[in-house]
Amino acid sequence: MKALLTTMMAALLLAAAPAWAGGEPERLALFQRGTIFHSGLTHTHTIALTFDDGPNAHTAEVLDALKELGVKATFFIVGNQAHRHPDILARIAREGHLLANHSATHALLGASYDAQPERLIAQVRDVDEQIAPLMRPGEPRFFRAPYGSWKYAHQGILNADPELRKYIGPIYWDVGGQISMTRDGYVMSAADWTCWRKGWSPHTCAKGYTREIRRKDGGVVLMHCIQVNSAALVREVVPPLLEEGYRFIRLDQNPEYRQYETPPAKPAKPRGEADARTAPLRLTALRPEDMR
Ligand SMILES: [Zn+2]
Repeated sequence: MKALLTTMMAALLLAAAPAWAGGEPERLALFQRGTIFHSGLTHTHTIALTFDDGPNAHTAEVLDALKELGVKATFFIVGNQAHRHPDILARIAREGHLLANHSATHALLGASYDAQPERLIAQVRDVDEQIAPLMRPGEPRFFRAPYGSWKYAHQGILNADPELRKYIGPIYWDVGGQISMTRDGYVMSAADWTCWRKGWSPHTCAKGYTREIRRKDGGVVLMHCIQVNSAALVREVVPPLLEEGYRFIRLDQNPEYRQYETPPAKPAKPRGEADARTAPLRLTALRPEDMR
């Protein structure tokens, strides 16, 4: 029994030991080794709308729609788009939405980036340099990988940078990833870019979004803000959910992500004092679903 207990303790310690334990044990890595799939928002009647790939001319219509509906969202910005539309980028922040990072060129961040770390850093830094001055001090910075592509080694490269290690990511989504239908053509879920490619109307596409949101009772919702139908989709999806009492939040209002934040500069702590904040968080920072 004692041997079994010892084995179990050892396994637990191994599981709890973070990769960065050799350096500063109480520091959390922010860019994670695996994509952050778990949002904690499903079954909470809470929705975080996220708009990728902007800004462009159609983003302004999305901002108009959100303003009329009184909803705040998170915008994952592509650097080269932002260089072309700095006024719309500034408007996103000004209207109370959260700016976030979706790489400079919407690059597929494969293993080749690990051989040339400066290329990976440049992909994140370009957007960071554009959005950080528009963000409020202390606002958390989120990253979403284009195409959801992420490699284990990326976090080590990015967390070694004193600015970029302030990022939380890569952030995935719960709703909006794909179209699914029943055999008799009932739309169960939708993904906006596929809807438009199929020639669906915003009304039909919205059915997929609202049904998936209702089934999951909330979640991080993936949309795009750069297509001619983007604003119409927002106007179809959001009003019925507001009527049903759903709460709309920005990603920085999601408590689930706090475990990935950079702790503030190390405070002098009396020896032996239990750290209630970091101790349990280290265990949860490496959940199996984050390692996929
Ligand atoms: Zn994208």
